Amino acid sequence: MARVLRVARSSSLFSFGSRSYSAEASHVSSPPPPFLGARRGFTKERNVQWVFLGCPGVGKGTYASRLSSLLGVPHIATGDLVRDALASSGPLSQQLSEIVNQGKLVSDEIIVNLLSKRLEAGEAKGESGFILDGFPRTMRQAEILGDVTDIDLVVNLKLPEEVLVDKCLGRRTCNQCGKGFNIAHINLKGENGKPGISMDPLLPPPQCMSKLITRADDTEEVVKARLRIYNETSQPLEEYYRSKGKLMEFDLPGGIPESWPRLLEALRLDDYEEKQSAAA
Ligand code: ADP
Repeated sequence: MARVLRVARSSSLFSFGSRSYSAEASHVSSPPPPFLGARRGFTKERNVQWVFLGCPGVGKGTYASRLSSLLGVPHIATGDLVRDALASSGPLSQQLSEIVNQGKLVSDEIIVNLLSKRLEAGEAKGESGFILDGFPRTMRQAEILGDVTDIDLVVNLKLPEEVLVDKCLGRRTCNQCGKGFNIAHINLKGENGKPGISMDPLLPPPQCMSKLITRADDTEEVVKARLRIYNETSQPLEEYYRSKGKLMEFDLPGGIPESWPRLLEALRLDDYEEKQSAAA
C-alpha cells in the first residue's frame, strides 16, 4: 500500500501523510470504484484492499487468511496485533489484558496506532494491498479508514447466532506452528424455513495435538460479551458499507469444504484459483 495510516499522539487527531483526520468530523471517502469491478479492485496498478466483517467465531480469520494466500496480499487481523501487544511486556500489555479479557473493545486510538505500525512495517517490506480482519469495528474506525484510503470491498460473513458461541469455544491454536483449528461439531437443525447447518471439526494433525492452546478470551462469558458488543458497536458498519455499495453479504453454507468454493464463486475468483494452481 502506497499510503500508510498514521496516528498522532494527540487523543483526537489521526494523521496520514499530509492529510489529517479529526475524530470529531465525519468525512466520507470519495465514491467507491464499481462494486463489481474487475476482480473487485484487483488491478495491475494495485492489489485488493478488502475488509472482512462478521461476528466473533464466524470464520473471518480462516477465510481472510486463505484469500490473502491466494491473492498475495497480507492478511492483517487487528486481534492478532492486540495479542502480540499483549504478549509483550510493558504498560500497554497490562492495559490491554484487562480490556480484552472482558470482551471489550480496545480504544480507537490504540488500535489505529497498532494498525498503522503494522502497515508501515509491511510497506517497508514492499507489501501492497491488504485484507483487514477485525478492523474497522466502530463507526469512528470506519471513518478514519475511509478518509485515508479506498476500500474496494467489504465481505460480511454470516452464520446463525446459535453456532457462534460453540465455534468460539471450539477454537484452538497450535502454539508451535501457529495454525488454527476447531474441535466443535456443529449440527444445527433447520427451523422455520431457515436451513440447518452442519460443520465438521477442523482437527489438528497429530504433531500439533499436544500443543493446542485456547485464547484467554474464548470463554463462554467473554464470548457472549463480545457478541453483544459486536451487535451494538460493529453491526452499524454493515449499513454504512451497504449504503456505499461496498458490502457483500455471505451466508456461510457450512464448513470450509462447502463454503470456500462458494465464497470464491461469489468473489468471482473461482477460475483464478485454478489458473494460479496451473501456473504453479
Ligand atoms: P473476535 O473473535 O472477537 O473477532 P479478534 O481476534 O478480532 O476477536 O479480537 C480480539 C480482541 O481484540 C477483541 O475482543 C478486542 O478487545 C480487540 N480488538 C481487535 N480488533 C479491534 C478493533 N478494531 N477495535 C477495538 N478492539 C479490537
